[in-house]
Amino acid sequence: MLVDTGRPANEVRRTFPCTYVWEPQIPTKVKFFMWSLLWDRLLTVDKLQRRGIVFPNRCCLCLVAEETMPHLFLSCRLSMEVWVNLLTVNIAARQALPSWRNTMDMLQNWPVFHSNEVAADIWAILPYAILWTIWQTRNDVIFNGGTWDTNRVIQRIKATVWGWLNMSLKSMELRKKFKFTDVLFGWRYVMTEQG
Ligand SMILES: [Zn+2]
Repeated sequence: MLVDTGRPANEVRRTFPCTYVWEPQIPTKVKFFMWSLLWDRLLTVDKLQRRGIVFPNRCCLCLVAEETMPHLFLSCRLSMEVWVNLLTVNIAARQALPSWRNTMDMLQNWPVFHSNEVAADIWAILPYAILWTIWQTRNDVIFNGGTWDTNRVIQRIKATVWGWLNMSLKSMELRKKFKFTDVLFGWRYVMTEQG
């Protein structure tokens, strides 16, 4: 049994979104992060408050809304800038973006990317790199006095994705057609759909 949910183990296995956590070609630490995220176990400010820790609940990125997981990862004005920028290469994703209620909903409805090139492999791990980088940057802002710079976050996501392609021999082979700078400065050129 993965967590104590008060339900039988077989029911947990059936309902738990294993596919979205354990199958993608992403580092193990990110899989555990995703596990916590999808089980609603990340310690966002709203949860600290529920544990009795008293301080104002304010999103450290936009400084306006309350920090909840759907806000931080999807609907925060600053997170949204990142999604919009990276998803412009896929019309279906760009159109679906405002309708995703939470990260599980997003992963379940993540559109297919039509390509036999490395673009499809990048697309498959892109949401994980975005969520992971938003969380890392949020922690840097809270604990290290860092600042949010949307362009820097976007470049960091591209670098993360490029690095994760190392985890699959097939992706590494497909990646050889491009240079890292192509991803950094030619996102639309690399992320071209076919057919
Ligand atoms: Zn916010």
